[in-house]
Amino acid sequence: MSWSPTSWRAHPASQLPAYPDAEALAMAESCLAAAAPLSTVAENRALSARVAAAAEGRAFLLQGGDCAETFAEFGADKVRTTFNLLLDMAALIAAGGQEDVVTVARIAGQFAKPRSADSETVDGVTLPAYRGDIVNAAAFDPAGRTPDPMRMLEVHRQSGITVDLLRAYAAAAYADEAPRRREAARRLGLRPDPVALARDPASAPRVFTSHEALLLHYEEPLTRWDEASEAWWSLSANMVWIGERTRHLDGAHVAYASGIANTIGVKCGPSLTPDELLRLAETLDPENRAGRLVLIGRFGAEEIARRLPALMATTQAAGLNALWAIDPMHGNTRTVGARKTRFVDDILAETAAFFAIARAEGVHPGGLHLELTGDHVTECLGGSAALAEADLPRRYLTHCDPRLNAAQALDVAAEVARLVMA
Ligand code: PEP
Ligand code: MN
Repeated sequence: MSWSPTSWRAHPASQLPAYPDAEALAMAESCLAAAAPLSTVAENRALSARVAAAAEGRAFLLQGGDCAETFAEFGADKVRTTFNLLLDMAALIAAGGQEDVVTVARIAGQFAKPRSADSETVDGVTLPAYRGDIVNAAAFDPAGRTPDPMRMLEVHRQSGITVDLLRAYAAAAYADEAPRRREAARRLGLRPDPVALARDPASAPRVFTSHEALLLHYEEPLTRWDEASEAWWSLSANMVWIGERTRHLDGAHVAYASGIANTIGVKCGPSLTPDELLRLAETLDPENRAGRLVLIGRFGAEEIARRLPALMATTQAAGLNALWAIDPMHGNTRTVGARKTRFVDDILAETAAFFAIARAEGVHPGGLHLELTGDHVTECLGGSAALAEADLPRRYLTHCDPRLNAAQALDVAAEVARLVMA
């Protein structure tokens, strides 16, 4: 049986909305099928080649951005601050290890969110859960919470603008590259590398796009056949990942991802067994091709030492060419008062444990996945700015998970630079 972009429909799907209007859904899907792609096969292949270099120990994958993009917070300034923050972080990591840093944003499609419950009850009223702006509205009212397929078209429109902005910033960023590298070296107390400072404009920094391939009604029509490579590609982003709640071996999300040629991330949380991981790798990457799979651990600072060594020992013993990365955010969420937050110290601890475990297992610790924003938010606690509990309400803007602000994100990148150097 051959794969097609609709193959996922024959599998049990979790985390998809129940659209009440089938006709409106079909109309939105056919509009997307006719819509412009948001990435190109050439870019996607270039990213895969660089991820392959990371898997072989010659590069480092830096992935970061909002937990969820929204319609309300969109703007050119926001895209530019994210772009600049990621490049500043990449320069720090590069200064630490002289490594090639592959920079990927959670942007231009990161709108759909998995939820632990399908509905929410407030004062005796039960409504569908908020699943991200691509599905419904965050405000608790019956009209807003009804899943609306036309929102997928607004996501496509906004993502197209975002991609254009990223391309424009990439073209302009070369001029900033030497000062960026000098500043990174200064922060780490190093002398700037003159060779790196004189880099060729052809290697101008660029930021790739990524998101969780969660809303398959959106992904399917943006999956396109490429004659040259004789393959199906997701052209909704350069790379996509499968989340912790949808990585079921026989589920729709794995079935979808198995047939596209892009680099695929898989979140690996505390419940994943070594055997399940091997079977996932077999399904998603039967040819064991470097650059195809990124295994993104997200255990929490407490759990990582109990879970990761066995998983890495298994991928090593099986000779898998998958890249191992760490998401030190999603296993470290805590509730303080009524708010979800994360402590920079937990994030640093899980990151350091990742490097130590990887080295003990003979694995290249090759990637970092963060939720961050260039805005001055007060959503995570600690870091060099020493944000305390009392600061949380000041600028707590996320509708979803708590993000590192720019200063905290640079703290984590500087720590990774030190770990790379060690
Ligand atoms: C996320 O990356 O925002 C997310 C939901 O992560 P996970 O699937 O690891 O929980
Ligand atoms: Mn999140």
